Amino acid sequence: MGNSLNATIKAFHCRCPKCGKGRLFKGFITLVDHCASCGLAIAKNDNGDGPAVFLIFILGFLMVPPAIIIAMHVDWPLWVHGTLWGALILGATLGMLRPAKALTMAMQFKNRPEIFTA
Ligand SMILES: [Zn+2]
Repeated sequence: MGNSLNATIKAFHCRCPKCGKGRLFKGFITLVDHCASCGLAIAKNDNGDGPAVFLIFILGFLMVPPAIIIAMHVDWPLWVHGTLWGALILGATLGMLRPAKALTMAMQFKNRPEIFTA
């Protein structure tokens, strides 16, 4: 439990899953090659599109039902719905992509630390 909480906190600060000090990203979602603090091989263990798949399911579950319910109760033109929900989903996706990637990297390190070899 304590370890899971630690891993989650490190993830939301976008820090190295091992030491919690070095930065995880060198670009928006581009991973650093190695942790500047402890040397953990990070880019080599990139989890690719995994976090995006999680976000598709989570945000789809959270956003589609309200969009349908609101569309049934208001008489806004289609472009208003498209603009509103498009902006909300795009904003939520871009806002959550880094923490989601960092969290899945932290989970990967916690559960399979032996694969994180240089
Ligand atoms: Zn580190």
